[in-house]
Amino acid sequence: MAKKYVYLFSEGNASMKELLGGKGANLAEMTGMGMSVPESFTVTTEACNRYYDDNKKIAPEIKDEIFAYLKTLEDITGKTFGDPGNPLLVSVRSGARASMPGMMDTILNLGLNDTVVEGIAGLTDNPRFAYDSYRRFIQMFSDVVMDVPKSSFERIIDEIKEKKGVSLDVHLSAEDFKDMVAMFKDHFKEHKGFDFPSDPKVQLIEAVEAVFRSWDNPRANYYRRMNDIPYSWGTAVTVQSMVFGNMGNDSGTGVAFTRNPSTGEKKLYGEYLINAQGEDVVAGIRTPELIDTLAQTMPHVYKQFADTAEKLENHYKNMQDMEFTIERGKLYMLQTRNGKRTADAALKIACDMVSEGLITKEEAIMMIEPKSLDSVLHPQFDGAAIKDAKPIGTGLPASPGAACGRVVFSAEDAVEWHGRGHPVILTRLETSPEDIQGMTVAKGILTARGGMTSHAAVVARGMGRCCVAGCGEISVDEKAKQFILGGKTIKEGDYISLDGTSGNIYGEALPTVEASISGDFRTLMGWADEIRQLKIRTNADTPKDSALAIEFGAEGIGLCRTEHMFFEADRICDMREMILSTNVEQRKIALNKLLPRQRADFEGIFEAMQGYPVTIRYLDPPLHEFLPTDEEDIRELANQMNLTMARIRQIIASLHEFNPMMGFRGCRLIVAFPEIAEMQTRAVIEAAINVQKRYPDWNIVPEIMIPLISEARELAFVKDIVVKTADEIIANAGVNLEYMVGTMIEIPRACVTADEVAAHVQFFSFGTNDLTQMTFGFSRDDSGSFLNHYYDKHIYEFDPFSRLDQNGVGKLIETAVMLGRKAKGSLQAGVCGEHGGDPSSIEFFHKLGLDYVSCSPFRVPIARLAAAQAALQLPRAE
Ligand code: ADP
Ligand code: MG
Ligand code: MG
Repeated sequence: MAKKYVYLFSEGNASMKELLGGKGANLAEMTGMGMSVPESFTVTTEACNRYYDDNKKIAPEIKDEIFAYLKTLEDITGKTFGDPGNPLLVSVRSGARASMPGMMDTILNLGLNDTVVEGIAGLTDNPRFAYDSYRRFIQMFSDVVMDVPKSSFERIIDEIKEKKGVSLDVHLSAEDFKDMVAMFKDHFKEHKGFDFPSDPKVQLIEAVEAVFRSWDNPRANYYRRMNDIPYSWGTAVTVQSMVFGNMGNDSGTGVAFTRNPSTGEKKLYGEYLINAQGEDVVAGIRTPELIDTLAQTMPHVYKQFADTAEKLENHYKNMQDMEFTIERGKLYMLQTRNGKRTADAALKIACDMVSEGLITKEEAIMMIEPKSLDSVLHPQFDGAAIKDAKPIGTGLPASPGAACGRVVFSAEDAVEWHGRGHPVILTRLETSPEDIQGMTVAKGILTARGGMTSHAAVVARGMGRCCVAGCGEISVDEKAKQFILGGKTIKEGDYISLDGTSGNIYGEALPTVEASISGDFRTLMGWADEIRQLKIRTNADTPKDSALAIEFGAEGIGLCRTEHMFFEADRICDMREMILSTNVEQRKIALNKLLPRQRADFEGIFEAMQGYPVTIRYLDPPLHEFLPTDEEDIRELANQMNLTMARIRQIIASLHEFNPMMGFRGCRLIVAFPEIAEMQTRAVIEAAINVQKRYPDWNIVPEIMIPLISEARELAFVKDIVVKTADEIIANAGVNLEYMVGTMIEIPRACVTADEVAAHVQFFSFGTNDLTQMTFGFSRDDSGSFLNHYYDKHIYEFDPFSRLDQNGVGKLIETAVMLGRKAKGSLQAGVCGEHGGDPSSIEFFHKLGLDYVSCSPFRVPIARLAAAQAALQLPRAE
């Protein structure tokens, strides 16, 4: 049998979203529930995919099927397409499986032409309504299907209004709309060079094709990437017979939510407009009435609508967002879907629905979008202020939250302005590890270059600092301390505001409000914790971050990067001295200066973590990152080391690498300079002993992690140094202290030889950032520039640095876990890359049976929820 590409509403239901799109499936469901929904048919998402497979052509048999269903629609409604005696008019609506707001505009009143409009005028005895509908149709069709800009039509409308001396559409007469139609058609012909299509069947097929085309427009592609929606889903097209809210004062159109979408309050919330059509309500043409008013003006309709709303909410067990139209006193439902809501509202609604007995705790957990929790954890812009504000540009929404402050162009200036009590926004071409202090004191970070996993983005997310990265349009002049964006010149000290959730940049100060963690939030997190099987740790380098992560529910540190500690002003000199040492003795002297500070850092972290596990990664980055670049610092170092400045420069030059990310770093540093690992081991073990003494009830078991290994023997070499040092310290102290040695798996070779590697260690932690970089063979700092071409051409759909590439990188992880656990059954396995905080990646890690994921403190609640959702839906490997 030939494939079926078109369905009537009576042939569909809510479970058919994949085929009919969300809108089509839910309309079918409402029809099945006996609600009054205008008759329609839906062209499936498979027809959309077929359109692209067939080189952007609608296959003849699909056209035939559409026309066959059009005939059925005519039979059901008793009206005929294009027949002025009793015309059928339809809307053409797009609908993907997941709602994609703004992807494509709907076309209303399709089927009108010069004769049909006259027929309608006569039949309804309402020429004003007929011509109002016609002019709307010409405008929508021209804009959406034919690419004639909407604004050019708006201009014509304004001209007519001005000529008539009126300000609102409702004051225009039938004659005015008739004139408008003529002018619209002329304008169309002028623009396109041919007449506006008058054959309704041609209009219909053109409109269906426009919906298919819209699936591949840049807006849609961007929205999908941001929201994890695959290109392969396609969009459906619903063709629905029209009902009219613009037939007079007993007609209208509106939208409503079953509960308040911004607060979650249980009360019907919405707006409507009398004598209006379609999107007039949201388009702000006239000020709409609140839904409560309908209870007074049309009590009957209101009651019917309120009952319908309640029925829908109970049926879907979720807050509903509904569209309706009233035609001459009769209510029609035109859409229902699970309503978008703020995270605060989402939490309240989920908890309320559990208390109301409408849903279970499990269903409540499934109802919250994990990523949305980001917004309850960070400061936000004041809602009213942001509504009126116009951005001067946009970048990548790299780290959420809102920030407002004065622009500075270097980390030093950030520290200085901050010291004088000013809120600052650090603006850089890109950031580097040297900027850490400036980033720490900044309210927000703005960069011109770099992607979602650039240094600025990763560090900002880690700190929970708002960051907008990779703003291509900005031209930053760090020397002159100014930037130009959106035609505006912003100088040092000027106020700007950043929205890290949308990527918007505002050239003015906007008020922000602090985040608060409400009772519902805590309740829901508690339920998630009961259900999830993955443990959630955090990536934290300081006692402050560690304490925050505990507050957010972290159960340990999965990654403590020791190098960040060395960038602090009071120790960078000793670090540099260590690096520039030309012999072991000299290096040991420098390391000995670093030891007490590093030990104190670890003590602080062990204390903050209250006995929870802490994984400490040994020195990882290429050494040149620590080296001085400006004259002043070089002079200081020369004095400290008793060397000439020329000699220092010479050593710096000798450390230059062509490809530092694949160079002299990670465990390679320890193989060359074992004394680094000796010092770090001493710091870790002594700190653990000291804190254990202070808190005898805790069971401190430090987890020492060796980075960047690719070969079991290099790991064995480094491990021996660690174990020898640690055991000696423990023996001398005469205490019992357990510790673990493990390794970071981030090189493909380590994955495929994981059985050999596992023989030497007690745990694996997957460093998925580097593992992704090494597996794809492209740099995470540079790939932003060319990956856009890959997204445009649908080669990649997602940024593999944000969302784990399960087919490739995932397979390496799976292999490593399998081989590793075969060699050592007790092997602990976790993830400490950026992916540890990404919900779709967390699902995958759950399935693999990993022990934990680790992510930045602000992502801990997201990970807790995502892990619970995974546990509710997916089996887990033993
Ligand atoms: P979106 O996905 O952007 O919400 P819709 O397809 O829901 O687009 O349609 C936009 C507007 O047109 C909505 O207000 C809807 O109620 C109205 N509309 C759509 N189809 C019809 C119809 N058959 N009769 C009357 N109004 C309609
Ligand atoms: Mg809609
Ligand atoms: Mg790494």
